[in-house]
Amino acid sequence: MDPQNPYRTRDAGGLRKDDVGETVRLAGWVHRRRDHGGLIFIDLRDRWGLTQVTFHPERGETFATAETLRPEWSISIEGEVTPRPPGNENPELPTGQVEVQATTLSVLNPSETPPFEIERDRPVDETLRLKYRYLDLRREKMRDNILFRHRVVKHMRDFLDARDFVEIETPLLTASTPEGARDYLVPARLYPGQFYALPQSPQQFKQLLMVAGFERYFQIARALRDEDQRGDRQPEHTQLDLEMSYTTQDEVLGLIEELFTEIVEGLAGKRIYQKPFPRLTYAEAMDRFGSDKPDITFGLEIKDVSPIAAKSGFKVFSGAVESGGSVRGIAVGGLADLSRGKIEGEITDVAKTGGARGLAFMKAEADVLTGPVAKFFSPEEQNALREVLGAAEGDYLFFVADKDPVVFESLGRLRLHFRDRLGLADGGTLGLCWVTDFPLFEWNEDEGRVEPMHHMFTMPREEDLPLLEAEPLKVIGQLYDLVANGTELASGSIRIHRPDIQQRVFDVIGIGAEEAERRFGAMLTAFRYGAPPHGGIAPGIDRLIMLLRDQPNIREVMAFPKTQAARDEMMDAPGPVAEDQLNELHIALRRRPEGPEGSDPAARPSEGNN
Ligand code: ASP
Repeated sequence: MDPQNPYRTRDAGGLRKDDVGETVRLAGWVHRRRDHGGLIFIDLRDRWGLTQVTFHPERGETFATAETLRPEWSISIEGEVTPRPPGNENPELPTGQVEVQATTLSVLNPSETPPFEIERDRPVDETLRLKYRYLDLRREKMRDNILFRHRVVKHMRDFLDARDFVEIETPLLTASTPEGARDYLVPARLYPGQFYALPQSPQQFKQLLMVAGFERYFQIARALRDEDQRGDRQPEHTQLDLEMSYTTQDEVLGLIEELFTEIVEGLAGKRIYQKPFPRLTYAEAMDRFGSDKPDITFGLEIKDVSPIAAKSGFKVFSGAVESGGSVRGIAVGGLADLSRGKIEGEITDVAKTGGARGLAFMKAEADVLTGPVAKFFSPEEQNALREVLGAAEGDYLFFVADKDPVVFESLGRLRLHFRDRLGLADGGTLGLCWVTDFPLFEWNEDEGRVEPMHHMFTMPREEDLPLLEAEPLKVIGQLYDLVANGTELASGSIRIHRPDIQQRVFDVIGIGAEEAERRFGAMLTAFRYGAPPHGGIAPGIDRLIMLLRDQPNIREVMAFPKTQAARDEMMDAPGPVAEDQLNELHIALRRRPEGPEGSDPAARPSEGNN
């Protein structure tokens, strides 16, 4: 640090025994003040750490000022580094061997009493934290989350730079790039009645950069999606967006695997469950784990017992198979304390959240299965069920009989429920795995139409091209997701690079040539100029940092997130705008501004021009 700097010559985290005898200046916040034995002790805090500063009564004026100090005042001190008296060292603190004997003290700015404690990590109402985020970010845990995030992002940049990737920014004000969410729109003042869309991802631009010949692109990109705020979502999130020309699925997966291994093991010091990362097809992931975001770090795998169920005398089971569904189950050990009431209540309710109408269960005793439905199965059938499920004595067997999607969803949720109930999760281990070979399309039940599983620019598997029009739901896409511990960390695909195939995919999802030209004209035209084969991926940065830092949600690893109601509490956004701003934008409001749909406008203070 600059020795001429009037505020500080050293940071508050770096002083050690070797520095004893030096005169230093430190600047930062009053973390804690203790008055003790006629002396005043201050823990001075900056971004790098804490240093104990001691004020002696002999230095009258400095001491008098020190007596006025309160938490979070911004100060600068000068003094000599001395060893702490024997017995007063603090082994918990890197600077705990030394202290600074203050000779001068300047109060740079006093502080009001903060709305919550900065110095201690106690639970604080989240809305309050978000309203005063700049104070929340002073807290050790938040500071460390943000500093860690920086190191991960820097590592990504260095890693990719070393492999010839170019970081290129793409526009925020642009036309819609659908990723399955609603667009955020921005009115265009110069074009009355017209709107820009904020990007749901830079998807079209990164593909156009491949047509432009950059070969290897990346960007730490913001993706803006106006989704309903279910679960742990944010209106804007950050992705490591990347794309490569003349590439293959294996090459993309290999690159990301290397990058993630370095980050997870090297930066976060966590273990990776299995290397190389296991690769599961979508079908296998569903079959074994009931989810395309499987947690592979514990057992309780799902088994298909349909052949046994079909022949059994239990109508619920045989009926499900007859009508085209299946019967699958899991065997769970270590549940000794489970009462029938608990199974039929709490545990069945978990299965029901996945759509199941009921949950059949049995218990494996020494040589029979017991439970209300066991009587429908002959001894041979009971043995067969036991065997397929791999059940040991004392295990509970849980079964769901329904259409496949319901069976998967319900048993998938049950697996995670038992993981948590039995404490099978190990926060120190990341079960990274690839899920590949997703169907290109899925059936949207509500709208009665085919829609892309990922996005509409994904290349079908070569051998499935002939099926596109006739049996679109059978087509497998060159699609891949990276998953860890039940969370999706990245999605990507090999892209369509030929205009004719792109139009065929558009046709399947009901986008005719004219609409395609209007919405995606640039892409279709660009593909006619020798577009190279290309593919890419976009790992979500917020979720990765959340997992690596063992945080409960992504807001903990974002500097300035919105609340779960999509509000910026600190800046008080969104908010109404002045009438003349609306006029300039040629916008007349249909209704007076109010809170989010369905909320009570009177519950929010009115402000601005309404
Ligand atoms: N653009 C995609 C997304 O944001 C990722 C990709 O295909 O590269 O989900």
